[in-house]
Amino acid sequence: MSLHLTQIRLSFGGDEVLSDVSAIVRPRDRVALVGRNGAGKTSLLRIIAGELDPEGGTMSLTGGTRVALHDQRPPLRRGITLGEYVGEGAAAAAELEADLRRIERRMAEGDSGEATLRDYGVAQAAFERAGGYAWRSRLEGIARGLDKLGIEDFDDLDGIAPTSPPSAPPSGVDAGALMERISGVAAGVENDANAMTLGEHVVLGRPAEHMVLVKAGSSIGCGVLADGRLHRGSRGMAGDVSHAAVVDAPNVLCSCGRLGCLDAVAGGAAIVSALRAMGLEVGGTADVIEMARNAHPPMMRLLREAGARTGSVLATIVNFFNPDRLVIAGSLSGAEAFVAGVRSTIYDLCPPMLTDGLRISVSEAAARGASIGAAAAVLDRMLDAEAVDAALRAGRPLRGTRLI
Ligand SMILES: [Zn+2]
Repeated sequence: MSLHLTQIRLSFGGDEVLSDVSAIVRPRDRVALVGRNGAGKTSLLRIIAGELDPEGGTMSLTGGTRVALHDQRPPLRRGITLGEYVGEGAAAAAELEADLRRIERRMAEGDSGEATLRDYGVAQAAFERAGGYAWRSRLEGIARGLDKLGIEDFDDLDGIAPTSPPSAPPSGVDAGALMERISGVAAGVENDANAMTLGEHVVLGRPAEHMVLVKAGSSIGCGVLADGRLHRGSRGMAGDVSHAAVVDAPNVLCSCGRLGCLDAVAGGAAIVSALRAMGLEVGGTADVIEMARNAHPPMMRLLREAGARTGSVLATIVNFFNPDRLVIAGSLSGAEAFVAGVRSTIYDLCPPMLTDGLRISVSEAAARGASIGAAAAVLDRMLDAEAVDAALRAGRPLRGTRLI
Protein backbone atom coordinates (compact mmCIF):
# COMPACT_ATOMS: atom_id res chain seq x y z
CA MET A 1 0.00 0.00 0.00
CA SER A 2 1.18 3.50 -0.63
CA LEU A 3 -0.53 6.80 -0.04
CA HIS A 4 0.23 10.12 -1.72
CA LEU A 5 -1.15 13.41 -0.48
CA THR A 6 -0.47 16.49 -2.55
CA GLN A 7 -1.24 20.02 -1.40
CA ILE A 8 -4.41 19.08 0.51
CA ARG A 9 -6.44 22.08 1.57
CA LEU A 10 -9.46 22.25 3.90
CA SER A 11 -11.30 24.95 5.82
CA PHE A 12 -14.36 25.08 8.04
CA GLY A 13 -16.47 28.25 7.98
CA GLY A 14 -13.62 30.45 6.82
CA ASP A 15 -11.06 28.95 9.23
CA GLU A 16 -8.27 27.28 7.35
CA VAL A 17 -7.71 23.86 8.96
CA LEU A 18 -5.31 22.30 6.46
CA SER A 19 -3.18 24.14 3.96
CA ASP A 20 -0.69 22.66 1.51
CA VAL A 21 -0.46 19.26 3.22
CA SER A 22 1.71 16.87 1.20
CA ALA A 23 2.99 13.47 2.30
CA ILE A 24 3.96 10.05 1.05
CA VAL A 25 3.35 6.88 3.07
CA ARG A 26 5.17 3.88 1.62
CA PRO A 27 4.53 0.14 2.14
CA ARG A 28 5.36 -1.01 5.70
CA ASP A 29 5.64 2.56 6.98
CA ARG A 30 4.26 3.17 10.47
CA VAL A 31 3.28 6.80 10.81
CA ALA A 32 2.29 8.80 13.89
CA LEU A 33 0.49 12.10 13.39
CA VAL A 34 1.19 14.45 16.28
CA GLY A 35 -0.33 17.85 16.93
CA ARG A 36 -2.30 19.93 19.39
CA ASN A 37 -6.09 19.64 19.67
CA GLY A 38 -7.82 21.27 16.73
CA ALA A 39 -4.74 21.14 14.48
CA GLY A 40 -6.71 19.12 11.93
CA LYS A 41 -5.36 15.60 12.57
CA THR A 42 -8.81 13.95 12.54
CA SER A 43 -9.88 15.97 9.48
CA LEU A 44 -6.83 14.72 7.57
CA LEU A 45 -7.56 11.12 8.61
CA ARG A 46 -11.18 11.55 7.53
CA ILE A 47 -10.01 12.79 4.13
CA ILE A 48 -7.77 9.69 3.80
CA ALA A 49 -10.70 7.47 4.84
CA GLY A 50 -12.86 9.12 2.16
CA GLU A 51 -15.31 10.55 4.71
CA LEU A 52 -14.45 14.15 3.89
CA ASP A 53 -13.64 15.83 0.57
CA PRO A 54 -10.72 18.26 0.56
CA GLU A 55 -11.23 21.67 -1.05
CA GLY A 56 -8.03 21.35 -2.97
CA GLY A 57 -5.15 19.00 -3.66
CA THR A 58 -5.13 15.33 -4.52
CA MET A 59 -4.99 12.06 -2.64
CA SER A 60 -4.11 8.72 -4.18
CA LEU A 61 -3.98 5.22 -2.74
CA THR A 62 -2.66 2.04 -4.36
CA GLY A 63 -5.56 0.15 -5.98
CA GLY A 64 -7.32 -2.31 -3.67
CA THR A 65 -6.20 -0.55 -0.47
CA ARG A 66 -8.78 -0.68 2.29
CA VAL A 67 -8.88 2.11 4.86
CA ALA A 68 -10.44 1.68 8.31
CA LEU A 69 -10.69 4.69 10.60
CA HIS A 70 -11.08 3.99 14.30
CA ASP A 71 -12.34 6.92 16.32
CA GLN A 72 -10.11 7.98 19.23
CA ARG A 73 -13.19 7.85 21.44
CA PRO A 74 -14.10 4.22 22.12
CA PRO A 75 -17.48 2.99 20.85
CA LEU A 76 -19.06 2.92 24.32
CA ARG A 77 -22.65 2.61 23.30
CA ARG A 78 -22.38 0.09 20.50
CA GLY A 79 -22.27 -2.96 22.75
CA ILE A 80 -19.38 -4.62 20.93
CA THR A 81 -16.21 -6.20 22.26
CA LEU A 82 -12.69 -4.92 21.66
CA GLY A 83 -12.04 -7.90 19.33
CA GLU A 84 -15.05 -7.01 17.18
CA TYR A 85 -14.17 -3.30 17.21
CA VAL A 86 -10.59 -3.75 16.00
CA GLY A 87 -11.87 -6.43 13.59
CA GLU A 88 -13.98 -3.91 11.69
CA GLY A 89 -10.93 -3.03 9.60
CA ALA A 90 -10.76 -6.62 8.37
CA ALA A 91 -14.51 -7.02 7.78
CA ALA A 92 -14.10 -7.70 4.04
CA ALA A 93 -11.61 -10.54 4.56
CA ALA A 94 -13.76 -12.04 7.32
CA GLU A 95 -16.84 -11.98 5.07
CA LEU A 96 -14.96 -13.57 2.15
CA GLU A 97 -13.67 -16.29 4.45
CA ALA A 98 -17.23 -17.01 5.56
CA ASP A 99 -18.28 -17.19 1.86
CA LEU A 100 -15.54 -19.75 1.21
CA ARG A 101 -16.69 -21.84 4.18
CA ARG A 102 -20.29 -21.82 2.85
CA ILE A 103 -19.22 -22.99 -0.64
CA GLU A 104 -16.95 -25.66 0.89
CA ARG A 105 -19.92 -26.99 2.86
CA ARG A 106 -21.98 -27.17 -0.36
CA MET A 107 -19.14 -29.07 -2.03
CA ALA A 108 -18.80 -31.44 0.95
CA GLU A 109 -22.51 -32.19 0.63
CA GLY A 110 -21.89 -33.44 -2.92
CA ASP A 111 -22.46 -30.29 -4.99
CA SER A 112 -19.68 -30.35 -7.59
CA GLY A 113 -21.54 -28.47 -10.33
CA GLU A 114 -19.67 -26.12 -12.64
CA ALA A 115 -21.34 -23.04 -11.11
CA THR A 116 -20.26 -24.01 -7.57
CA LEU A 117 -16.66 -24.64 -8.66
CA ARG A 118 -16.62 -21.27 -10.44
CA ASP A 119 -18.05 -19.52 -7.35
CA TYR A 120 -15.35 -21.17 -5.28
CA GLY A 121 -12.58 -20.02 -7.63
CA VAL A 122 -13.91 -16.44 -7.64
CA ALA A 123 -14.29 -16.36 -3.83
CA GLN A 124 -10.83 -17.81 -3.27
CA ALA A 125 -9.16 -15.26 -5.58
CA ALA A 126 -10.99 -12.39 -3.84
CA PHE A 127 -10.03 -13.76 -0.44
CA GLU A 128 -6.36 -13.95 -1.40
CA ARG A 129 -6.47 -10.38 -2.75
CA ALA A 130 -7.92 -9.28 0.61
CA GLY A 131 -4.92 -10.72 2.44
CA GLY A 132 -6.07 -14.36 2.76
CA TYR A 133 -5.73 -16.10 6.08
CA ALA A 134 -3.19 -13.51 7.24
CA TRP A 135 -6.02 -11.14 8.25
CA ARG A 136 -6.60 -12.95 11.53
CA SER A 137 -2.98 -12.81 12.70
CA ARG A 138 -2.61 -9.20 11.51
CA LEU A 139 -5.70 -8.30 13.48
CA GLU A 140 -4.28 -10.04 16.51
CA GLY A 141 -1.03 -8.11 16.08
CA ILE A 142 -2.89 -4.78 15.94
CA ALA A 143 -5.02 -5.68 18.95
CA ARG A 144 -1.95 -6.68 20.85
CA GLY A 145 -0.68 -3.14 20.48
CA LEU A 146 2.38 -3.93 18.38
CA ASP A 147 2.80 -7.30 20.10
CA LYS A 148 3.58 -5.67 23.41
CA LEU A 149 0.38 -5.98 25.40
CA GLY A 150 1.18 -9.54 26.39
CA ILE A 151 -2.30 -10.92 25.83
CA GLU A 152 -1.57 -14.59 25.23
CA ASP A 153 -4.84 -15.63 23.73
CA PHE A 154 -6.79 -13.47 21.31
CA ASP A 155 -9.99 -14.69 22.98
CA ASP A 156 -8.89 -12.57 25.95
CA LEU A 157 -10.00 -9.53 23.98
CA ASP A 158 -13.51 -10.79 23.44
CA GLY A 159 -14.42 -10.37 27.09
CA ILE A 160 -13.24 -6.78 27.22
CA ALA A 161 -15.69 -4.01 26.50
CA PRO A 162 -14.16 -0.67 25.47
CA THR A 163 -14.63 1.90 28.23
CA SER A 164 -13.77 5.51 28.72
CA PRO A 165 -11.12 5.54 31.49
CA PRO A 166 -11.56 9.18 32.56
CA SER A 167 -15.13 8.60 33.72
CA ALA A 168 -15.32 4.91 34.57
CA PRO A 169 -12.94 2.18 35.68
CA PRO A 170 -12.24 -0.14 32.73
CA SER A 171 -14.54 -3.11 33.13
CA GLY A 172 -13.00 -6.57 32.98
CA VAL A 173 -9.46 -5.21 32.67
CA ASP A 174 -6.97 -5.68 35.47
CA ALA A 175 -4.71 -2.88 34.26
CA GLY A 176 -2.12 -3.50 37.00
CA ALA A 177 -1.73 -7.19 36.09
CA LEU A 178 -1.56 -6.25 32.39
CA MET A 179 1.20 -3.70 33.08
CA GLU A 180 3.15 -6.34 35.01
CA ARG A 181 3.00 -8.67 32.03
CA ILE A 182 4.14 -5.97 29.62
CA SER A 183 6.94 -4.60 31.77
CA GLY A 184 8.00 -7.68 33.72
CA VAL A 185 8.25 -5.62 36.91
CA ALA A 186 5.86 -5.07 39.81
CA ALA A 187 3.06 -2.74 38.74
CA GLY A 188 -0.16 -1.34 40.11
CA VAL A 189 -2.85 1.15 39.29
CA GLU A 190 -3.76 3.95 41.66
CA ASN A 191 -6.00 6.98 41.59
CA ASP A 192 -3.94 10.20 41.18
CA ALA A 193 -5.15 11.92 44.36
CA ASN A 194 -4.45 8.74 46.38
CA ALA A 195 -0.93 8.46 44.93
CA MET A 196 -0.29 12.15 45.72
CA THR A 197 -1.51 11.62 49.29
CA LEU A 198 0.92 8.73 49.80
CA GLY A 199 3.72 10.78 48.19
CA GLU A 200 3.07 13.76 50.48
CA HIS A 201 3.06 11.44 53.49
CA VAL A 202 6.49 10.10 52.48
CA VAL A 203 7.96 13.57 51.77
CA LEU A 204 6.66 14.93 55.10
CA GLY A 205 8.41 12.04 56.88
CA ARG A 206 5.10 10.35 57.64
CA PRO A 207 4.21 12.52 60.67
CA ALA A 208 0.51 13.04 59.92
CA GLU A 209 -1.79 10.24 60.99
CA HIS A 210 -5.01 11.78 59.71
CA MET A 211 -4.48 13.72 56.52
CA VAL A 212 -6.66 15.02 53.71
CA LEU A 213 -4.99 16.06 50.46
CA VAL A 214 -7.02 18.01 47.94
CA LYS A 215 -5.79 17.79 44.37
CA ALA A 216 -7.01 20.93 42.68
CA GLY A 217 -6.14 20.88 39.01
CA SER A 218 -8.46 20.97 36.02
CA SER A 219 -10.77 18.91 38.24
CA ILE A 220 -10.86 18.44 42.02
CA GLY A 221 -10.33 15.24 44.00
CA CYS A 222 -9.16 14.19 47.46
CA GLY A 223 -7.03 11.51 49.06
CA VAL A 224 -7.67 10.48 52.66
CA LEU A 225 -5.15 9.07 55.09
CA ALA A 226 -6.68 7.58 58.26
CA ASP A 227 -4.48 6.21 61.07
CA GLY A 228 -1.47 6.60 58.76
CA ARG A 229 -3.00 4.42 56.03
CA LEU A 230 -4.69 5.31 52.79
CA HIS A 231 -8.46 5.00 53.15
CA ARG A 232 -10.01 3.77 49.89
CA GLY A 233 -13.58 3.04 50.95
CA SER A 234 -15.66 0.08 49.82
CA ARG A 235 -15.22 0.67 46.08
CA GLY A 236 -12.02 2.67 46.03
CA MET A 237 -13.92 5.93 45.64
CA ALA A 238 -13.26 7.47 49.08
CA GLY A 239 -12.23 11.11 48.82
CA ASP A 240 -13.82 11.69 45.42
CA VAL A 241 -15.34 15.09 46.13
CA SER A 242 -15.60 16.21 42.51
CA HIS A 243 -19.38 15.77 42.48
CA ALA A 244 -20.08 17.06 45.98
CA ALA A 245 -22.79 19.73 45.88
CA VAL A 246 -21.60 23.27 46.65
CA VAL A 247 -24.04 25.38 48.68
CA ASP A 248 -25.14 28.58 46.86
CA ALA A 249 -23.16 27.62 43.76
CA PRO A 250 -24.26 28.91 40.36
CA ASN A 251 -26.29 26.46 38.27
CA VAL A 252 -23.42 25.25 36.11
CA LEU A 253 -24.06 21.90 34.42
CA CYS A 254 -21.52 19.25 35.47
CA SER A 255 -20.27 16.37 33.32
CA CYS A 256 -22.29 14.04 35.61
CA GLY A 257 -25.54 15.75 34.63
CA ARG A 258 -26.16 17.54 37.95
CA LEU A 259 -25.97 21.25 38.62
CA GLY A 260 -23.40 23.02 40.79
CA CYS A 261 -20.98 20.14 41.57
CA LEU A 262 -17.58 21.19 42.99
CA ASP A 263 -15.84 20.24 39.73
CA ALA A 264 -18.24 22.32 37.65
CA VAL A 265 -17.92 25.48 39.75
CA ALA A 266 -14.36 25.42 41.16
CA GLY A 267 -12.07 23.18 39.03
CA GLY A 268 -9.41 24.64 36.74
CA ALA A 269 -11.57 23.73 33.73
CA ALA A 270 -14.46 25.72 35.26
CA ILE A 271 -12.19 28.77 35.74
CA VAL A 272 -10.99 28.48 32.14
CA SER A 273 -14.59 28.44 30.84
CA ALA A 274 -15.54 31.41 33.03
CA LEU A 275 -12.59 33.38 31.60
CA ARG A 276 -13.51 32.41 28.06
CA ALA A 277 -17.09 33.55 28.72
CA MET A 278 -15.54 36.97 29.57
CA GLY A 279 -13.96 36.95 26.12
CA LEU A 280 -10.44 36.21 27.35
CA GLU A 281 -8.19 33.84 25.46
CA VAL A 282 -7.08 31.05 27.80
CA GLY A 283 -5.50 27.77 26.74
CA GLY A 284 -5.82 25.80 29.97
CA THR A 285 -5.12 25.66 33.71
CA ALA A 286 -1.43 26.51 33.14
CA ASP A 287 -2.48 29.86 31.64
CA VAL A 288 -4.66 30.48 34.71
CA ILE A 289 -1.63 30.17 36.99
CA GLU A 290 0.45 32.40 34.71
CA MET A 291 -2.24 35.11 34.67
CA ALA A 292 -2.59 34.84 38.47
CA ARG A 293 1.16 35.54 38.79
CA ASN A 294 0.55 38.79 36.97
CA ALA A 295 -2.29 39.59 39.40
CA HIS A 296 -4.88 39.71 36.63
CA PRO A 297 -7.92 41.16 38.54
CA PRO A 298 -10.87 39.06 37.19
CA MET A 299 -8.63 36.01 37.52
CA MET A 300 -7.86 36.76 41.17
CA ARG A 301 -11.58 37.01 41.92
CA LEU A 302 -12.33 33.71 40.13
CA LEU A 303 -9.50 31.91 41.92
CA ARG A 304 -10.53 33.22 45.32
CA GLU A 305 -14.13 32.20 44.63
CA ALA A 306 -13.01 28.72 43.48
CA GLY A 307 -10.86 28.41 46.63
CA ALA A 308 -13.81 29.41 48.83
CA ARG A 309 -16.11 26.87 47.15
CA THR A 310 -13.49 24.14 47.53
CA GLY A 311 -13.00 25.23 51.15
CA SER A 312 -16.74 24.96 51.85
CA VAL A 313 -16.72 21.27 50.80
CA LEU A 314 -13.46 20.65 52.70
CA ALA A 315 -14.88 22.31 55.83
CA THR A 316 -17.56 19.60 55.99
CA ILE A 317 -14.84 16.96 55.67
CA VAL A 318 -12.71 18.63 58.38
CA ASN A 319 -15.75 18.81 60.70
CA PHE A 320 -16.53 15.16 60.13
CA PHE A 321 -13.07 13.61 59.88
CA ASN A 322 -10.97 15.80 62.22
CA PRO A 323 -7.64 15.57 60.32
CA ASP A 324 -4.35 16.92 61.71
CA ARG A 325 -3.19 18.01 58.27
CA LEU A 326 -4.86 19.39 55.16
CA VAL A 327 -2.66 19.59 52.08
CA ILE A 328 -3.54 21.67 49.04
CA ALA A 329 -1.94 20.17 45.93
CA GLY A 330 -2.39 20.20 42.16
CA SER A 331 -1.78 23.06 39.74
CA LEU A 332 -4.21 25.50 41.44
CA SER A 333 -2.17 25.21 44.66
CA GLY A 334 0.37 27.42 42.85
CA ALA A 335 -2.13 30.31 42.97
CA GLU A 336 -2.00 32.26 46.22
CA ALA A 337 -5.59 33.53 45.75
CA PHE A 338 -6.95 29.97 45.51
CA VAL A 339 -5.07 28.81 48.62
CA ALA A 340 -6.22 31.91 50.54
CA GLY A 341 -9.85 31.16 49.55
CA VAL A 342 -9.60 27.58 50.84
CA ARG A 343 -7.85 28.57 54.05
CA SER A 344 -10.16 31.44 55.04
CA THR A 345 -13.33 29.45 54.33
CA ILE A 346 -12.17 26.53 56.47
CA TYR A 347 -11.31 28.86 59.39
CA ASP A 348 -14.66 30.53 58.86
CA LEU A 349 -16.78 27.36 58.81
CA CYS A 350 -14.98 25.08 61.29
CA PRO A 351 -14.99 25.59 65.08
CA PRO A 352 -11.62 26.50 66.67
CA MET A 353 -11.41 23.16 68.49
CA LEU A 354 -11.00 21.53 65.08
CA THR A 355 -8.80 24.14 63.41
CA ASP A 356 -6.47 24.56 66.42
CA GLY A 357 -4.82 21.21 65.80
CA LEU A 358 -5.06 21.44 62.00
CA ARG A 359 -2.15 22.42 59.77
CA ILE A 360 -3.15 23.66 56.35
CA SER A 361 -0.24 23.63 53.92
CA VAL A 362 0.57 23.70 50.23
CA SER A 363 2.02 20.39 49.00
CA GLU A 364 5.76 19.99 49.61
CA ALA A 365 6.01 16.99 47.30
CA ALA A 366 4.48 19.16 44.54
CA ALA A 367 4.79 17.67 41.06
CA ARG A 368 6.78 14.66 42.33
CA GLY A 369 4.07 13.61 44.80
CA ALA A 370 2.19 11.20 42.56
CA SER A 371 5.33 9.34 41.40
CA ILE A 372 6.73 9.06 44.94
CA GLY A 373 3.36 7.86 46.22
CA ALA A 374 2.96 5.31 43.42
CA ALA A 375 6.41 3.85 44.14
CA ALA A 376 5.63 3.76 47.88
CA ALA A 377 2.35 1.94 47.17
CA VAL A 378 4.07 -0.76 45.11
CA LEU A 379 6.79 -1.22 47.74
CA ASP A 380 4.26 -1.38 50.59
CA ARG A 381 2.35 -4.02 48.67
CA MET A 382 5.45 -6.06 47.82
CA LEU A 383 6.84 -5.93 51.34
CA ASP A 384 3.51 -6.45 53.09
CA ALA A 385 3.97 -9.21 55.73
CA GLU A 386 1.26 -11.38 54.18
CA ALA A 387 2.69 -11.03 50.68
CA VAL A 388 6.17 -11.96 51.91
CA ASP A 389 4.82 -14.99 53.82
CA ALA A 390 2.80 -16.15 50.81
CA ALA A 391 5.82 -15.77 48.50
CA LEU A 392 8.04 -17.73 50.89
CA ARG A 393 5.44 -20.49 51.23
CA ALA A 394 5.11 -20.75 47.45
CA GLY A 395 8.89 -20.62 47.02
CA ARG A 396 8.61 -17.90 44.36
CA PRO A 397 10.40 -14.56 44.05
CA LEU A 398 8.67 -11.49 45.45
CA ARG A 399 6.50 -9.67 42.95
CA GLY A 400 4.03 -6.84 43.38
CA THR A 401 0.44 -7.55 42.53
CA ARG A 402 -2.42 -5.26 41.69
CA LEU A 403 -3.15 -2.50 44.15
CA ILE A 404 -6.86 -1.95 43.60
ZN1 LIG B 1 -21.01 16.36 38.95
